[in-house]
Amino acid sequence: MIGESATWRNWHLYGYGRDTTPEMDKLAANGELVVFRDVVSVGCLTSAEVRRLVTDCPFEREWQSRYSLAHILAKAGIDCSIASAQPVGAWSKTDVLYALFNGCSKREYSKIDIGVGAANFCGHDHKMLPVLEEWLSGKASGGRVFFVHLCGSHFPCESEYLNTIHSAEWDEDTVDDATRNLSEKARRLVNRYDRAIHYEDMVLGRIVELLKQNSRPSLMLYISDHGESPQRGHWRDYSAAECYEVPFICWLSEAFRELRPELAERLEAAKDKPIQPDEMFGGFLEILDVHLADPAKQPPSFLDPTFKGRFPRLIRNGAVQYPGDIPAKRQ
Ligand SMILES: [Zn+2]
Repeated sequence: MIGESATWRNWHLYGYGRDTTPEMDKLAANGELVVFRDVVSVGCLTSAEVRRLVTDCPFEREWQSRYSLAHILAKAGIDCSIASAQPVGAWSKTDVLYALFNGCSKREYSKIDIGVGAANFCGHDHKMLPVLEEWLSGKASGGRVFFVHLCGSHFPCESEYLNTIHSAEWDEDTVDDATRNLSEKARRLVNRYDRAIHYEDMVLGRIVELLKQNSRPSLMLYISDHGESPQRGHWRDYSAAECYEVPFICWLSEAFRELRPELAERLEAAKDKPIQPDEMFGGFLEILDVHLADPAKQPPSFLDPTFKGRFPRLIRNGAVQYPGDIPAKRQ
């Protein structure tokens, strides 16, 4: 699951005051979820950040990659599919992303008209559920990977369409003092952002339900491409830490835990490590138990006990250090 513009700061699962993530909270309370707590995106541009997640591109040159995950998995006999709630051509970025998933045998892209100023961009993620349900019910002889690219909480979260399908009311006293003291306009933006997170949580909860209905061992990974500064709307200078602090969670079915108990332990052991998305490619291969023919070319895995990660983390290709160079929240 590739999320969009979600910062963990507005997830209740990560300690936010509002009850924005009831479904993920439930899974965590049941011990079904591994919650990674220190993941920082390299930048804030969807097309670059998704590329960092699903290819082996070098940190400094995000446009260069030798392999995409979908191509490697196809070679390993794992059938891949992509369902994207982001329509091809939206912001021009999805045209770039489209190529990354060429290795998928099934590709379903949303055909929504995002409207003037992208007014209708958010609120279509649940439309990917029937697609996923149909694919899951299909016969499979080997492993399968379903990529789902979500619209998430991309600006403008005040999406007219989302307004019509999802509501979430918040008491003003459920936010921290800093948020309560924001201008009325900024508070409205935060309210709408939180509603988009709440909607996204519902979609993720339903995806886990679908996987539970399917008897095969399964695992769901969710990570947002980058964060957001909710009180500023889409803040284009990206000068707040929350634009980079992203949720990364992993749900494992009981059957999957029985099948790969060592993997469940390695995921748990890595959850507090400082990780950046460009360091995840090797970890995804380990999770999927895929090994390159030449072991020397196997990318390192963030699940390896020797993985330390970068500290401080480097963002905007190293121009900014985290923590240190940017404030925790843009006021
Ligand atoms: Zn994005």
